Amino acid sequence: MGVVPCMNDLSGKRIAIIGAGLAGIAAARGLVQRGAAVTLLEKSRGFGGRCASKRWEGHVIDHGAQYFTMRDERFREAATAACGDALVRLEKPVRDENGRELPDSGRWIHRDGNSRLARELAKGIEIRSECQIDDARTLLAEFDHVVSTAPWPQTARLFGIEHAFDHIPCLAVALAYHGEWIGRTRETYAFSHPGTALAWTACENHKPGRIAPGFTVLVAHLGEAFSREHLEKPPAEYPALVRSMVEERWEIPAEAFAGAFGHRWRLARVDAPLIAPALPPRLHFVGDALRRSRVEDAWLAGHEFAQNTSFES
Ligand SMILES: Cc1cc2nc3c(=O)[nH]c(=O)nc-3n(C[C@H](O)[C@H](O)[C@H](O)COP(=O)(O)OP(=O)(O)OC[C@H]3O[C@@H](n4cnc5c(N)ncnc54)[C@H](O)[C@@H]3O)c2cc1C
Repeated sequence: MGVVPCMNDLSGKRIAIIGAGLAGIAAARGLVQRGAAVTLLEKSRGFGGRCASKRWEGHVIDHGAQYFTMRDERFREAATAACGDALVRLEKPVRDENGRELPDSGRWIHRDGNSRLARELAKGIEIRSECQIDDARTLLAEFDHVVSTAPWPQTARLFGIEHAFDHIPCLAVALAYHGEWIGRTRETYAFSHPGTALAWTACENHKPGRIAPGFTVLVAHLGEAFSREHLEKPPAEYPALVRSMVEERWEIPAEAFAGAFGHRWRLARVDAPLIAPALPPRLHFVGDALRRSRVEDAWLAGHEFAQNTSFES
């Protein structure tokens, strides 16, 4: 039997949500619709969490989520209402290690950077940015309920709970080259080789308007074993670890190299859904860990949480 949405009126309830990623934004929007007074608290300046974009050397790079799916009608409707024709479908294929095209149910981006998806979905919600919470329990003096959407290991600390659950790290690297559509980039959006050091590499030039004229930019996400091995190295050292592998895979001449940056995602994703333990009264957790580590799943987790939680205690 499916879950019956719980739509009791939440007027008068003050709810704090920690984290303005996709889960937090969806939860906030749904709870506002039920009448709650919601405040989103985000430690960073921008929104989107792991659905992250960065302006760099005249380019706009997605160094977190590369694209998102819109398989679920509820997410598709919300994203389309918020972003309209700024949603762009990637046309070129993702290939496996044998060069075969992987199935494509629709790989979507926001034209101006994937973090813009979060920003558009968050419009109208009260957000306190650059507001890092160190102990969620202290917020209960100001709010009736506190919802954390920080990745579970961080949430457990914020709630004062001992409960380990492994999150897999991912090192990310962006590499820029002089020249447009060089090597094998024109016909392929990405190569996916899970289980290897170079688990994912993608050419950002397939995202229209993102890359400055005269350049090709590739993003690499390193596999689990490689990421764990090099996790504590400074991100500035990551490009040198992988550059030659990227150039070999994409047949890009080394002398075209123009610049690079690295980024550490310490808590990038989960392997299997988390079954959260019982939580202290008035503290709640929601996030992609409850479903799958995907933008769409994070949004759905937040959306369903907002529909199904009674907040009666
Ligand atoms: C490298 C990488 C590649 C990915 N690629 C894809 C992809 O191609 N397609 C796809 O669909 N998904 C992809 N994902 C997964 C996707 O990005 C995530 O599943 C999704 O964005 C998670 O959303 P969330 O809201 O659950 O968590 P988050 O996005 O992590 O949001 C949590 C928010 O909480 C904030 N926060 C944490 N602690 C505190 C605190 N103490 N006080 C205040 N704020 C706090 C954080 O700053 C963050 O904004 C990728 C993820 C990574 C890391």
